[in-house]
Amino acid sequence: VTPSSIRPLLEDRLFAVKKQIHDACRRAGRQPEEVTLVAVTKYAGIETAAMLVELGVRDLGESRPQELWRKRAALRTDVRWHLVGHLQRNKIQRTLPLHLIHSVDRLSLLTSLEQEAVKRGTTVHVLLEVNASREPSKLGFAPETLLGLASCIKSLRQVHVLGLMTMAAPAADPDTCRPTFTLLRQLRDRLRQLVPLPHRLEHLSMGMSDDFEVAIEEGATLVRIGSALLAGLPRQPDTQ
Ligand SMILES: *Cc1c(COP(=O)(O)O)cnc(C)c1O
Repeated sequence: VTPSSIRPLLEDRLFAVKKQIHDACRRAGRQPEEVTLVAVTKYAGIETAAMLVELGVRDLGESRPQELWRKRAALRTDVRWHLVGHLQRNKIQRTLPLHLIHSVDRLSLLTSLEQEAVKRGTTVHVLLEVNASREPSKLGFAPETLLGLASCIKSLRQVHVLGLMTMAAPAADPDTCRPTFTLLRQLRDRLRQLVPLPHRLEHLSMGMSDDFEVAIEEGATLVRIGSALLAGLPRQPDTQ
């Protein structure tokens, strides 16, 4: 792949992913507008990420805060940034403000974010990460502990919990991931009955390159797609 051929390749892949999203929505009787494509740019350099934005992608995600800061500083300001990976407390200051944090994986982070939001007089939108596949190596709240968070969520005034996020265990057959996604939806439905607004719990961030169609069939509203768009593209040397 040469640099000049990156753009058409990216355009083709983006078109293909959007069509898959569209088809999965149709199978599930859902509207394509209900699903937001978050392009996870961790495999890409700044120039490739900028190309995605030129091609109309408005939502970009990064798993490492430092990389999010770097790309955010370089790209257009109308990009909606999503943090999809672990956030250490000492990185909160530089990470805010941003569109959505998908990966709140522990209570202490929730309370630190609330403190910072109060201090700034702003609102912070988050999802709670759930280890719905119950893999020992994974971060996130255990499914059993989630409903017990209701009273803590209720006490948050400036952190708004907009939904849940999970990552399925890698699988050769994406249908194997379905129970993980179903569980996340069920947990969301139950938690939603326990907490009042503004904790809308409308979002389900689930589905990555290998399993996003199944996730959409199970109710995903945010799909986080990296390699299906960016695998194999050269990391161009960044100009900054
Ligand atoms: C990297 C990453 C993705 C994208 O994964 P692909 O399989 O490359 O689409 C999605 N979510 C999180 C949390 C990630 O770290």
